[in-house]
Amino acid sequence: MHQPSNQPRPSIYYNYQVHQPWLASQHGPQQRQQVVIVGSGPAGMVLALELARHGVPSVILTSELQVSQGSRAIVFTRRSMEILQQVGVADRMTQHGLPWRFGNSFYRGQRVFRMEAPHDADDRFFPMLNIQQQYMEEYLLDACEASGLIELRWGNKVTHVAQENGYAVATVDTPEGEYQLESHWLVAADGGRSGIRSQMNLEMEGTSYEGFFVIADIKIDLPFPTERLAYFDPDWNRGNTILMHREPHGIWRVDYQLPPGETPEQALTVESLTTRINAQLDMIGFGGTPWELDWSSVYSARTLTLPDFVHGHVIFTGDAAHLLPIFGVRGANTAFQDAQSLGWHLAFVVKGLASEQLLRNHSNERVGAAREIIEEAGKSTRFMTPPEGGFTLLRNAVLSLSLTQEFVRPLYHWRTSRPHEYTHSMLNSMGDDNALFKAGPAHGAPPQNICLSADNYLLDHLGGGFDLLYFTEHDAVPQALCDVVQGVRQQGIPVRIVAVGSGQTVAGADTTLSDADGHFRQRYGVVASGAGYLLRPDQHVCARWLTLDAHRLQAAFDAALLRSHKA
Ligand SMILES: Cc1cc2nc3c(=O)[nH]c(=O)nc-3n(C[C@H](O)[C@H](O)[C@H](O)COP(=O)(O)OP(=O)(O)OC[C@H]3O[C@@H](n4cnc5c(N)ncnc54)[C@H](O)[C@@H]3O)c2cc1C
Repeated sequence: MHQPSNQPRPSIYYNYQVHQPWLASQHGPQQRQQVVIVGSGPAGMVLALELARHGVPSVILTSELQVSQGSRAIVFTRRSMEILQQVGVADRMTQHGLPWRFGNSFYRGQRVFRMEAPHDADDRFFPMLNIQQQYMEEYLLDACEASGLIELRWGNKVTHVAQENGYAVATVDTPEGEYQLESHWLVAADGGRSGIRSQMNLEMEGTSYEGFFVIADIKIDLPFPTERLAYFDPDWNRGNTILMHREPHGIWRVDYQLPPGETPEQALTVESLTTRINAQLDMIGFGGTPWELDWSSVYSARTLTLPDFVHGHVIFTGDAAHLLPIFGVRGANTAFQDAQSLGWHLAFVVKGLASEQLLRNHSNERVGAAREIIEEAGKSTRFMTPPEGGFTLLRNAVLSLSLTQEFVRPLYHWRTSRPHEYTHSMLNSMGDDNALFKAGPAHGAPPQNICLSADNYLLDHLGGGFDLLYFTEHDAVPQALCDVVQGVRQQGIPVRIVAVGSGQTVAGADTTLSDADGHFRQRYGVVASGAGYLLRPDQHVCARWLTLDAHRLQAAFDAALLRSHKA
């Protein structure tokens, strides 16, 4: 019998709320569900919220009675905030988080590189925002509870998944024993150690790196701004790397690499932690400043992915689908993108708006994203924790040259998580003008935000279905385009026409956004009235035209819904 802990987890800064377990005996007979999601981490909850936006109910089964323990994700990217905005939690994140955009790399006591993440007036969100994962999960949880379409069952641990003809059966262990739950679709969002992945004997492709890092979260008052601090090869930890991040509530993360041969158990003794944290504080000039340990753990870098996320009626997402190193803040930030993508793909299949082939597209796109991240993360991981002679030589050469040679300094810069562009997606329209545009988001890219007026941005107006951005100087959307959109809507597919005009309300559009100074058109590479962009429900561009006509608009919808493909 599964007995999750009902003791609040210890934390200096976070008040854990313990929820009541969901017990089958207090409910009627179990009906077959459309969608069951295993796991209430960032992937599971964002997926449930995305499904709910499309009117699809879901049941989340989660083994614990509380949000996640200890120090996990703390850095969230702009794209993650744009996704969280869609599911209604971005405001709370920005209200409590610490925004930042600069990173500093130090070697031999000298700052040798200063990273500046791009940020312009059109961005609502900063490139990065620091806040502890528990808070993010709490905000998502509140949004799930506020949705009438999500049932969250605390203390429900899935111990086995079977697949029957056209549905999945989960065996769920609870404090009062087991019950079985059938669903048309079961989503394994059960994290990096996914029991469902193991039970199904699914192998991941990629690499596991040697070398351990300690994560220690300490409460300390340090007068540094919120910027990433990276120290290479310091005297107290020769050959290794230390990272520091400011978190809300007076917490700092100190993340240091262990010398080869040291075990995680040795590294996590109080004596070892104290000595090393004090050495780091001495090095940055704050030795003797009082501090208190909140959390410590050890991790090693892995770059692994399942080569396919869809297995019959079981779909893997988030860490259950791939394991990414935390350099470059990739885990949760990628999980949000997975969940956002899966949300609309699965909703359209559940609602019968598209064939199951659409899920194949989801898998192709997100496996492609994972492989791209693995490629990029591999480079930064090899720089941070060089696996063998040649890589160590290269890193040492970069470090020593960087003291005097400016040209090598950008090599310190490791790429942080960024949204994958579905450049070769089968949902992209082939007969459009994508290649003719000189600016603007291309096929498969997420949209560039635009500041329309004070506290009013383009992305505030998009999402939840397809969005047709129609750029016009006229006072009405052509009837032929409205007819195509109407035809698509009649099939149950949500589409909105967002007209971008010079001022007056555009008839036939659901919303008109003013672009009196032409800034929006310029960023989107629009040169004449009548241009358009079609955005998928996850906001990625699937078609764009310098001049849009009804025939090509219909073709774009057909491509995006795989109508020209056989199921
Ligand atoms: C030290 C550290 C630092 C990190 N820093 C960052 C960062 O700064 N930025 C970033 O983007 N990412 C970071 N990550 C990664 C991030 O924490 C994960 O990628 C993210 O939590 C993955 O979300 P998920 O929903 O896929 O899985 P998880 O968050 O692991 O959630 C899995 C869920 O499944 C539940 N579960 C598991 N098994 C079962 C079962 N059998 N039955 C029912 N429920 C089950 C769990 O209780 C949990 O609710 C960090 C991770 C660590 C460890």
